[in-house]
Amino acid sequence: MNKREFLKLCSITLASPVLAPLLARASGDKLTNWAGNLEYSTEQLYPAASLEQVREFVRKQSKLKVLGTRHCFNKIADSTDQFLSLKTMDNVVALDPTSRTVTVESGMTYGQLCPHLDSKGWALHNLASLPHISIAGACSTATHGSGETNGNLSTAVSALEFVNASGDVVKLSRQQDGETFRGAVVGLGALGVITKVTLDVQPRFMMQQYVYEDLPLRELKNHFDAIESAAYSVSLFTDWQKERVNEVWLKHRMEQGRTFDAPAEFFGAKRATKNLHPIAELSAENCTEQLGVPGPWYERLPHFRMGFTPSAGKELQSEYFVPREHAVEAILAVERLRDQVSPHLLISEIRTIAADDLWMSTCYKRPSVTIHFTWKQDWPAVSKLLPVIEKELAPFSPRPHWGKLFTVSPAQLHSSYKMLADFVELSRKYDPHGKFRNDFLSRNIFRI
Ligand SMILES: Cc1cc2nc3c(=O)[nH]c(=O)nc-3n(C[C@H](O)[C@H](O)[C@H](O)COP(=O)(O)OP(=O)(O)OC[C@H]3O[C@@H](n4cnc5c(N)ncnc54)[C@H](O)[C@@H]3O)c2cc1C
Repeated sequence: MNKREFLKLCSITLASPVLAPLLARASGDKLTNWAGNLEYSTEQLYPAASLEQVREFVRKQSKLKVLGTRHCFNKIADSTDQFLSLKTMDNVVALDPTSRTVTVESGMTYGQLCPHLDSKGWALHNLASLPHISIAGACSTATHGSGETNGNLSTAVSALEFVNASGDVVKLSRQQDGETFRGAVVGLGALGVITKVTLDVQPRFMMQQYVYEDLPLRELKNHFDAIESAAYSVSLFTDWQKERVNEVWLKHRMEQGRTFDAPAEFFGAKRATKNLHPIAELSAENCTEQLGVPGPWYERLPHFRMGFTPSAGKELQSEYFVPREHAVEAILAVERLRDQVSPHLLISEIRTIAADDLWMSTCYKRPSVTIHFTWKQDWPAVSKLLPVIEKELAPFSPRPHWGKLFTVSPAQLHSSYKMLADFVELSRKYDPHGKFRNDFLSRNIFRI
């Protein structure tokens, strides 16, 4: 099936923003992840409504996993025994203008938090492509947006509260707990049940989003730094065909209310004259406003609007982080695979992210460029392709996204995370008998 036919078929189920996940659940009533590519290994799900209920449940179970908004594509969230959901624990606990922080219960999504923060005059530093995801789930997997000077979303975490395997409440903060805190923030769901998250906030700001079409690959090659630093957040979408980047999304921050007048041309690319979806064949109705229309930060930083299906829906995703200094070489390495990649691809996205010091972060001590793939939902084909891409990127020591599909070996993972052994030790401190461990964690993390 070619891309156009595939998208036409998808668009029938995607017409309604809520229909796709419901359909996935309805077919056989199985509990699945958001994309429907995974059936979880149990349907036992306990919805906790208070800290006390979380503590009691954790004490009683010998094995469990917390389920966030189910947006991971791999089995990092899976459980064969019990799921715990904190979906209804979604209140703002405190907004503190003095410390410039907001504390939320961990069932909250960015989509719930952001309009509230904005209405009180505050903002977060960055967001992922979609606001639909839970804050705790996103930070646990080092979810990111884009921007040369922007750390991933977990870099905004300044304190955490979680329930450990004995049912005790643990509180850690950036100010008081140094390395232990830095080990716990990107916790991969291995340390316990996060019940509260405190995030740094800053005064609210306005943004303008412009999209350009058809950036020649040679311009990208020669001017990558200038292109990436042309706006607060930059995303490049490509299908790797015709030696060009299909769309460049520039998200400008309006300083002191000043508007940014975008030129008609950007490194040979032409300014779009209508809103676009990253997959040009799909309707832009699901996407945040473009054409330079000023709007609040939380309606411009994500690509997709709350209340609508993000991305394509019936899809798979993979993403690799390579050191920023090798950006162009890594992009060209993937471009050489275009004829193998394209038949299975919906779209690729290239973003940059600042380095951080969170042990299990994909950007730990590495300013990074990410090469992302939104695939057609054909795992047999994609699973054959991933090792080919990973081999091509191997010279750059790629780190795969924790929530997306990869075939990188546990040994390779261990060699690219300097603090992994310390993370294992930290996890054992809070969960000595592996209550929060599943097959994904046992294979990829605890094999030492
Ligand atoms: C359409 C789409 C677009 C995406 N865009 C981006 C993007 O722009 N950038 C990016 O980096 N990623 C992106 N992702 C990936 C996504 O951000 C991550 O998969 C993220 O982890 C999703 O959060 P979740 O709550 O849905 O996680 P889940 O899949 O529900 O859980 C993820 C992990 O977090 C753990 N967890 C969740 N809540 C808790 C808690 N309270 N306590 C302890 N552990 C917990 C789970 O046990 C699991 O290990 C995208 C995914 C989709 C489907």
